[in-house]
Amino acid sequence: MKLAMIGFGQAGGKILDKFIEYDKRTNAGIVRSAVAVNTAKADLMGLEHVPESNRVLIGQSRVKGHGVGADNELGAEIAEEDIDEVQGAIDNIPVHEVDAFLVLAGLGGGTGSGGSPVVAKHLKRIYTEPVYGLGVLPGGDEGGIYTLNAARSFQTFVREVDNLLVFDNDAWRKTGESVQGGYDEINEEIVTRFGILFGAGEVDEGGDVAESVVDSSEIINTLAGGGVSTVGYAAETVENESSSGGLLSKFTGGGQKQPEDTANTTNRITSLVRKAALGRLTLPCEIDGAERALLVTAGPPAFLNRKGIERGRKWLEEQTGSMEVRGGDYPVPGSDRVAAVVLLSGVTNVPRIKELQQIAIEAQENIDEIRQESEDNLQNLVEDDDDELEPLF
Ligand code: GDP
Repeated sequence: MKLAMIGFGQAGGKILDKFIEYDKRTNAGIVRSAVAVNTAKADLMGLEHVPESNRVLIGQSRVKGHGVGADNELGAEIAEEDIDEVQGAIDNIPVHEVDAFLVLAGLGGGTGSGGSPVVAKHLKRIYTEPVYGLGVLPGGDEGGIYTLNAARSFQTFVREVDNLLVFDNDAWRKTGESVQGGYDEINEEIVTRFGILFGAGEVDEGGDVAESVVDSSEIINTLAGGGVSTVGYAAETVENESSSGGLLSKFTGGGQKQPEDTANTTNRITSLVRKAALGRLTLPCEIDGAERALLVTAGPPAFLNRKGIERGRKWLEEQTGSMEVRGGDYPVPGSDRVAAVVLLSGVTNVPRIKELQQIAIEAQENIDEIRQESEDNLQNLVEDDDDELEPLF
């Protein structure tokens, strides 16, 4: 499906940049328009793929291009004050050509954390297209203020979007790596998963798998109903002769070359579906109780089959208890991989969110306590013991 993407803040902008790069590399055709919004000039200048004319610096009169320093209330205020500047960039998007908006942000910081729910609310008021969020939760080692920001932004963002797709940095943290190098890899993981998911609805129907190709309406229907979503992914390399572009890739004789028997193909798909759903999800959670699900199997057409999807779908129905499990193909002729992507929408049993909220509440209490204490300490310092001195005015 074709998306208008709005990257808010540093993380939002960098992930947006990665999406554009992915789109160019794979010809997925999902990023119809891209707008990056930030209060920090340097972050906008660091982007590589977002066109310069689509980079919007907000809050110049308040923070002079220096960012909001993890103050997400200020981030939200500035986004509201300067919403016309954001709208100015969105005005250049041919909205009739997009299937949905996707607002991306890291929820632990300031600009994206505060601004993304504001812009989502604004978009929903103006356009009829669905507005989705892609929210990134901070790593547990980032500290209390980031957790508190994320917990408050999460509550607001879920309320303002048609569905919030969540990625949890904490579950994907790699030890022993520089933060920057770590994020690069993590961002690649993000775009692979969401790229296949959204790319699935962008395939020209045709050929012998037409009836089982995922349509963008199936993605939209799976996300409809709101709430929180998570995505699972698993892939396996296959020997796809057509990927080398050799003679064997052509039709041979009367029929298409069958590289392996269908039982193999089916078994591979069913085990990939299980790995995707039971492995590391973008937001780890219990899949039992997910309201809706969508299964996408991607790869060269000869390695996809209806039976595999049907079995995978049935298995997902059993595991989630959901009656709304959709499924389909995403044929990628030149690829040498078969992948399963599972979108679980409307998940409610998410211990990580409860933990995040608990830590956020503790952080909030600590912050209040420290503030009170330092006010008292300052008063003790400035005032003389017996109150004999008087200030000038
Ligand atoms: P903002 O610019 O004020 O919106 O804040 P940032 O986007 O810099 O940071 C917000 C949070 O996003 C951080 O606490 C990190 O958890 C996360 N983050 C920052 N950069 C990246 C990135 O490139 N990738 C990912 N996955 N997360 C990031």
